[in-house]
Amino acid sequence: MRSHSVITINQVNHYYGSGKLRKQILFEVSTEIRAGEVVIMMGPSGSGKTTLLTLIGALRATQEGSLKVFGHELNGASENLLVRVRHNIGYIFQAHNLLNSLTTRQNVQMSLELHEKLPLSMRQQKSEAMLEAVGLGKQIHAYPDELSGGQKQRVAIARALVSHPKLILADEPTAALDKKSGRDVVELMQQLAKQQGCSILIVTHDNRILDIADRLIHMEDGWLTSVENTNRNIEETTRPLLPVS
Ligand code: ADP
Ligand code: MG
Repeated sequence: MRSHSVITINQVNHYYGSGKLRKQILFEVSTEIRAGEVVIMMGPSGSGKTTLLTLIGALRATQEGSLKVFGHELNGASENLLVRVRHNIGYIFQAHNLLNSLTTRQNVQMSLELHEKLPLSMRQQKSEAMLEAVGLGKQIHAYPDELSGGQKQRVAIARALVSHPKLILADEPTAALDKKSGRDVVELMQQLAKQQGCSILIVTHDNRILDIADRLIHMEDGWLTSVENTNRNIEETTRPLLPVS
C-alpha cells in the first residue's frame, strides 16, 4: 500500500526582489514526499534549496504554483492556517538556535509550550525522555555553552522531535559537525523519525549520509534536475530504539 502524500509541490516558481531587481530563484518545481519517506536534497550553494525548504515550512509565502503540506494549500493560505501547519513541523536548521540562557531541557521543552494543554510536569518528563533518547540524559541541566557541537545539534533534534511532528525539515544539519558526529546525528534523526512515522527532508552537501535517504533530489539553478530512487523499502529502515512517547 502506498503511503499518503505529506508534501505535494506543483509548478512552484519563486522570485526575490521587485521591479527591475526582481529575480527568479525557483523554476517550475514539482515533487512529492510521502509519509515516512526520508528525502535528501543536494545541490550547489545558491541553487535555491533553503528557499524551497522555507516555502515548504510555511516560513515564506508561496507566490506561484501549488504547494500542499498535510493536504493544505499554502499558496494564499491565511496566517492562521500557516501557524497550524508550522505546529506540525520540526525544524532543524544549521545554526541550531539554542537559547544560551536556558538549560538543554528548557530548550527542548520550549517546543511543547505551543501545546499548552500538557501539564508542566508532563512537558518536563517528555523533554527528559527525548534528551535521553538522543543520548543526553546526563546533560539535561547543562547549558548550551557547556556542550560540544554534536551535542548541541542533538539538542536541536530532540527539540524538533519532542512534539512528534509529522514532518522534519533539516537544512544542512551536519555542516558544523565532524564526520562521526554528523553521521550519528542523521542516523538518530532517521531512527526517531521512523519510530514516530514522520517524513524527513534534509538539505545536505554531505556525501557520507546519502545512504540514509529513500530518495535523492537535486536542485540546480532553481530547477529540480533529477530524482533518484534509492530502491529501499521504507519499512526496512525501521529499527527499535528507546521508547519515545
Ligand atoms: P541555497 O540554500 O541552495 O544555497 P538559497 O535558497 O539560500 O540557496 O538562495 C538561492 C538564491 O536566492 C541565491 O542567489 C541567494 O543569493 C538568493 N536569496 C536567498 N535569500 C534571499 C533573500 N531573502 N532576498 C534576496 N535574495 C535571496
Ligand atoms: Mg541554504
